[in-house]
Amino acid sequence: MMSDCLFCKIEAEEIPSDRVYEDDKVIVFKDIYPKASVHLLMIPRQHIDSLATVTGKDQDLLGYMLAKVPEIARDAGLDGGFRTIINTGADGGQEVFHIHLHILGGSKLPFA
Ligand code: 5GP
Ligand code: ZN
Repeated sequence: MMSDCLFCKIEAEEIPSDRVYEDDKVIVFKDIYPKASVHLLMIPRQHIDSLATVTGKDQDLLGYMLAKVPEIARDAGLDGGFRTIINTGADGGQEVFHIHLHILGGSKLPFA
């Protein structure tokens, strides 16, 4: 755990979140400032700064996260589709430096 990391604190339940899914590898919770009617964040329990710092040793975990998305989307009722986003670094608009996957949907999203 990174002591000054917001999402590590959420993982450790030091900061509350509205969790919709969790297992031994990932947590999924509602974004506090939703940008769509459904806006979820999936984080690995293990701290990784960003997609820019991912290496080969992380590939099983990253694959696990992506492969978990359809189940999360189904359970959230996103039958019409959804959007997944990983913002990376300052230019990519990343605000929290614990890697996370946005899952957005619930209605037709504006073109991105
Ligand atoms: P980023 O811009 O790093 O890709 O996304 C960070 C996301 O975390 C933003 O969409 C923001 O609304 C969300 N967020 C920031 N602080 C909190 C918090 O304390 N709780 C929850 N649930 N979401 C947060
Ligand atoms: Zn962290």
